[in-house]
Amino acid sequence: MITKGQIIQGLQAVAEAIAENKDYLTELDAAIGDADHGINLDRGFQKVLEQLPTVADRDIGSLFKHVSMTLISSVGGASGPLYGTMFLRASIATAGKEELNAEAMGAILVAFVEAIVLRGKAQLGDKTLLDVLIPTQQAYQSAIAQGSDFPTAWQTALEAAKTGRDSTIPLVAKKGRASYLGDRACGHLDPGAASAYLILKTLFDPNL
Ligand code: ADP
Ligand code: MG
Repeated sequence: MITKGQIIQGLQAVAEAIAENKDYLTELDAAIGDADHGINLDRGFQKVLEQLPTVADRDIGSLFKHVSMTLISSVGGASGPLYGTMFLRASIATAGKEELNAEAMGAILVAFVEAIVLRGKAQLGDKTLLDVLIPTQQAYQSAIAQGSDFPTAWQTALEAAKTGRDSTIPLVAKKGRASYLGDRACGHLDPGAASAYLILKTLFDPNL
């Protein structure tokens, strides 16, 4: 079970982790994009952090809605609307909830994937954040189906997320700016895959 308080702590931790990794994410984007990914996300999550006290008494759905609206209005580039839509769909899946059980977590992961597919029209293997989100959702779902408890299933899902992130290195990008590079994108980690892994790992940290 993840409580609302843990989600608030998770969002604070995400803002910190993005700030710490701002230069790293921007360097990844410098190699195959336009060197703004860390800057974009840091701007957005600092705004989320600033305004968190004003929504801290709300339910988890409202917290995610706040994240969504803040990212959409303050993050530029492709990632603002993508992550914004991802949290918007998750907010619908968690409307009115004060805590997340295994089933609610599954619904969030499905919402994340659906939102990015709808918004960005990418597929698995296109060298985007979906290469993290899809394996995470699938690993989580099959672990739960096989009878794993929530923490174990989430640990399995995070391992799949990491493998998914690293799977983007040899890929040619089919979406976004990196797709203009053709084969020259091969050998580089996708910045969006790196941030997606970081966000998942930090937001739902069971040790919080
Ligand atoms: P921009 O490319 O506009 O500068 P960012 O640098 O903030 O935006 O984000 C780039 C990341 O966005 C990429 O690394 C990729 O993971 C992700 N991305 C780009 N286009 C898509 C898409 N159509 N679907 C899913 N993810 C995408
Ligand atoms: Mg960029």
